[in-house]
Amino acid sequence: MTENTSFLPSYTATHDQNHAYIRQILPLMRRHDVPIDPINFAVWYHYVAGISVELNEEIDILTRKRKLFDTDLNLRLYKSYVCNASVESFEHINSNLLRLIAEISLSVDATNEKVTEAGDNFSNKLSELDTDENPKNLKDILLEVMLETKQLADISQDLKNKLDDSRKEMEALRNEMKNVRVAVNMDALTGLLSRSGFETILNELIEEAPIRNACLVLLDIDHFKRVNDTFGHLIGDKVIKYLASMLKKHAPEHYYLARFGGEEMAIVMPNTSLKAAFSFMDKIRIIMENSQLKYKNDTALLGKVTFSAGIATLQETDTAYSLIERADNALYKAKDSGRNKVVTEKHIVSTRVQH
Ligand code: GH3
Ligand code: MG
Ligand code: MG
Repeated sequence: MTENTSFLPSYTATHDQNHAYIRQILPLMRRHDVPIDPINFAVWYHYVAGISVELNEEIDILTRKRKLFDTDLNLRLYKSYVCNASVESFEHINSNLLRLIAEISLSVDATNEKVTEAGDNFSNKLSELDTDENPKNLKDILLEVMLETKQLADISQDLKNKLDDSRKEMEALRNEMKNVRVAVNMDALTGLLSRSGFETILNELIEEAPIRNACLVLLDIDHFKRVNDTFGHLIGDKVIKYLASMLKKHAPEHYYLARFGGEEMAIVMPNTSLKAAFSFMDKIRIIMENSQLKYKNDTALLGKVTFSAGIATLQETDTAYSLIERADNALYKAKDSGRNKVVTEKHIVSTRVQH
């Protein structure tokens, strides 16, 4: 797992998987005449690794129609599926902020110039008063000073208005920034936290001192390839959504639910004992096991969809990586011992209804 929690995508493939991917990516790119550069490589890496069903569907259509992978198309695929529009949003926010700062700076400069000019005028008038003995001029000088003062007041009002406008624009940009952050941290299909949102939360939890009771659950839908192969990816997506909705419905408010990737989900459970984590997960396991998922209409059943889960408790010496690794090992044990199970790192195995 990459350690970053930025807006860049993160990858979980093992060394061997990556080797296998590379062996497929380069011939594929060559076959479809895609120039081998880092951007295109990233797109085809995502394709081969099956990171986004939508990307794979789009590329499959494009290759079937023998579309030319030109620069525009490659860049669009990259922006849509690899590094999403957040890059553009940030560029937009950034350039607007720079423009605002430049405008404010110009207004302040102009005001400064006028204030200096007015200061000079006042001193000139003062010296005129010193030398002039004719009281008739006094009135004129006073009038000029009053006019100058009025202009100064107008200028500062003008500056205040401009600063108010800028403050409003800054506020709008801040909201835009917040929306981008929410979008980046949110998984579009399920409405759960995205992988990067999950990593941010987990890192924050681990950095908290002193470390409190907390658990991490990793879960993976059983035999999901069969669901896709039998009913298609769109139904597969609905199954992922359904499981996510069950988690949302039943999870206490302080749990963080995330889509870890594909048909895998992660739950960060602060202030939760291993026992409580287990009992929550087993409840969801039973709910899923008993769900009668329907396909197309009320009579066609999709059948039972189950998942396996692994739970680890946070230790004082844990990094995000070591905690995930232990939860993943527990998940592996759940899969290895027959699936439709919840296994904690201490190997408490739930009672499984045979199917
Ligand atoms: P296992 O019980 O061992 O987990 O078997 P599995 O068939 O679920 O195997 P695995 O977890 O390796 O495969 C997951 C499959 O999920 C592979 C991939 O094509 C599919 N997949 C990944 N992401 C999505 C998605 O967003 N939507 C759909 N429909 N399928 C996805
Ligand atoms: Mg999986
Ligand atoms: Mg699976």
